Amino acid sequence: MIETIRPGDPRYQDVRDVYTATGSPAQVLRPRTAEQVAESLARAAELGGPLSIRSGGHGMSSIATNRGGTVIDLGHLNAVEAPVDGGDLVRVGPGARWGDVAGLLSPYGLAISSGDSGDVGAGGLATTGGLGLLGRAHGLTIDNLVAAEVVTADGRVRTVDAEHEPDLFWGMRGAGANLGIATSLLIRAARVPAVVHATVQYEVRDPAVFLRAWGEAVEAAPRAVSAFLYLLGGGAALATIVYAGDDVPAAQSALDPFLRLAPRYGQRAVLTPYAGVVAAGGEPHRGQQRARTHSGLAVHLDHDVTTRLAALIGSGFGQMLQIRSAGGAINDVAADATAYAHRHQNFSVTAVADGRFDAFDRAWDEVRPALDGLYLSFESAFTPERLAEAFPPATLARLREIKSKVDPENVFHQNFPIRTS
Ligand SMILES: Cc1cc2nc3c(=O)[nH]c(=O)nc-3n(C[C@H](O)[C@H](O)[C@H](O)COP(=O)(O)OP(=O)(O)OC[C@H]3O[C@@H](n4cnc5c(N)ncnc54)[C@H](O)[C@@H]3O)c2cc1C
Repeated sequence: MIETIRPGDPRYQDVRDVYTATGSPAQVLRPRTAEQVAESLARAAELGGPLSIRSGGHGMSSIATNRGGTVIDLGHLNAVEAPVDGGDLVRVGPGARWGDVAGLLSPYGLAISSGDSGDVGAGGLATTGGLGLLGRAHGLTIDNLVAAEVVTADGRVRTVDAEHEPDLFWGMRGAGANLGIATSLLIRAARVPAVVHATVQYEVRDPAVFLRAWGEAVEAAPRAVSAFLYLLGGGAALATIVYAGDDVPAAQSALDPFLRLAPRYGQRAVLTPYAGVVAAGGEPHRGQQRARTHSGLAVHLDHDVTTRLAALIGSGFGQMLQIRSAGGAINDVAADATAYAHRHQNFSVTAVADGRFDAFDRAWDEVRPALDGLYLSFESAFTPERLAEAFPPATLARLREIKSKVDPENVFHQNFPIRTS
């Protein structure tokens, strides 16, 4: 029997909300098998109203709760099967958190390229991208996905990979939420016994000049380096830089240019298993992060991009600006190999605001013309214009064709809906 939690149940308060929103669903179904996921879909249709699919509940681009409808919560599907016989294939349940996955793989000297937060769920991230601190070294999470078990709108449980239903497998790697519910993920882990994890606090006097220097340093760094920068306003920036390997002298020389970019308030570097970078906090979800976010990608942090970003920072509309490295192994993958097609950009830019949203949107509109595509996991607006930035025309056309076959009734329209026409 499927665990079912309704309002009035003492367990309800722990399953109604997600990280970015509060909710009041009529029922939260917590299946334990793919077959129960299929049954949950039928029960959701019977009830009617909104449907939400939840893995970790840490989504930003889509909200995995609702008012008055059904949440299919995959939290029980959280098993992580360790690799056998010295292999590197890991079976991950969508309800697992990346911090737990990293912790389990550490003793094997393995790591899966994931996001920067250990609390993010496997299901949401591994069906859209997975841009994290091993990205330049080992690609996006989806680039390491070997196969997935998927429950489609017709209730069928399908195993998809390069040989079996390759179109659906292609679509699941970038636009998975539109096509079905991933109930199991087979992922190839990389040999990463340890990483050098550095943090640097900079004093930023001229954001445009600093960002240009940052961008050049990132692009010049060996691909073992992935680097994220958080600009907080008030003349300060915080960098998280990961060298994917335990060769400390090589890491030191790779990180050294980052120490010469600007005056520093402080810095720190530790040799740690990857699990030490993405530990899960495990706090209950209460809608604590109600921010609006905008996303864009950039090939280089050139004069146009950095001048516009500096103006955004100067406008004061926005709580934080985050610049992530992409490139490296991510760009080794052909643009048409997965439904995430952005394979020539070297940076992801995300702006976050926790209020004054209209002014924030207008300020971001001044940045957008300098950007090239967007990453849907970091974008709050689902308009057709943003959809076209997330999926280039050929990608969107192919996705719509697949969608028309596997989800003609548009059951899965919650996350950057691609629609069928
Ligand atoms: C603090 C924070 C840090 C983040 N860091 C990163 C990062 O470093 N890199 C990165 O790439 N992203 C990052 N993200 C974005 C995150 O990857 C996405 O929002 C992702 O969808 C969250 O996964 P989840 O399982 O926790 O999401 P949920 O909130 O459970 O789901 C989000 C949406 O994903 C879809 N979905 C969920 N599970 C499935 C499934 N099993 N099958 C199909 N569709 C599903 C549904 O549409 C759902 O509405 C971050 C988000 C937050 C809040």
